[in-house]
Formats: sequence, structure tokens, C-alpha cells
Amino acid sequence: MERTLAILKPDCVRKNLIGPVISQITEAGFKILALRMVHLAPHTAGGFYAVHRERPFYKDLVAFMSSGPCVPIVLEKENAVADFRALIGATDPKEAEEGTIRQLHADNKGENIVHGSDSDENAAIEIGYFFQGLDLVSTH
Ligand code: ADP
Ligand code: MG
Repeated sequence: MERTLAILKPDCVRKNLIGPVISQITEAGFKILALRMVHLAPHTAGGFYAVHRERPFYKDLVAFMSSGPCVPIVLEKENAVADFRALIGATDPKEAEEGTIRQLHADNKGENIVHGSDSDENAAIEIGYFFQGLDLVSTH
């Protein structure tokens, strides 16, 4: 079993799409290992996206990610990282495949509904940013 970190971003929460998006994720075969709702402070959102700090969109990204509550979720599945990236679609919803979460629900490249880790190594780091060991003991 592999793990990945998803975040339902503040636009997902504002649009009342937590339920439908989680349904799409679980129908695709992912198990939810841990889940919380948190309103990130700008410095906390900035820390999560620190790899992007030199990018032109960083300031807007930090403002967006701290604009309201978001929902980090630890998901488990075989091949979880790659399969979840396939389920969410390309960063820009205009380029995302038909039926992907971003193609269905996202407005633009910045406000794109959901985050997914891009490698096993980053998944472990990102899971550790939001969850403690005791949250991650699998009992299913
Ligand atoms: P992904 O989330 O698909 O892994 P990146 O890691 O490249 O994409 O970027 C992180 C997040 O930063 C994106 O999901 C999106 O919210 C935002 N972002 C990326 N590129 C742009 C851009 N060109 N303009 C505005 N926001 C962007
Ligand atoms: Mg990324």
C-alpha cells in the first residue's frame, strides 16, 4: 500500500464540493487513512509550498491557500501517488482530461480544487506537515 497527500483546497470547500470530491476519490478505490479541516495562516501555506517560493504565482498561491479552510487527507491505495495525480488531472483545468476532478470542478490554474503529492518522497514530507504518527495508524 502506498500513501499520498490530497488537499481539498479552499475553493473546493467554498463551492460546497467536499462531499462530491471525496465520493469521486473513494469510488476510484482510495481509502481514507486520516482527514482534517484547517484554515492555514499565510506563513503555514507558504511553508507547504516553499518549493515554489521563487515562482511568479507564489504570492497569489499563498493568499489563495490561506483564504479559507482546506481539507488535507491521507489516502492509501496501491500506486496511490500516480493514480491520484491521474484522478485529479493537469494543473490547468483547461488541459485536464475529461472526467478528472480538476476538469469537472476547477475554475483556473490557480484555483484548481485539489492538491496531490507528486512523488513518494514528497508524499511522506507533506503527510508529516499536517498529521502526526498517531493519526496514521491503519486500523482497516
Ligand atoms: P500541481 O498542483 O498540479 O502539482 P504545481 O506543483 O506546479 O502544480 O503548482 C502548485 C499549485 O500552484 C497549483 O496546483 C496551482 O494552485 C498553483 N499554480 C501553479 N502554476 C500556476 C500558474 N501558472 N498560475 C497560477 N497558479 C499556479
Ligand atoms: Mg505540485
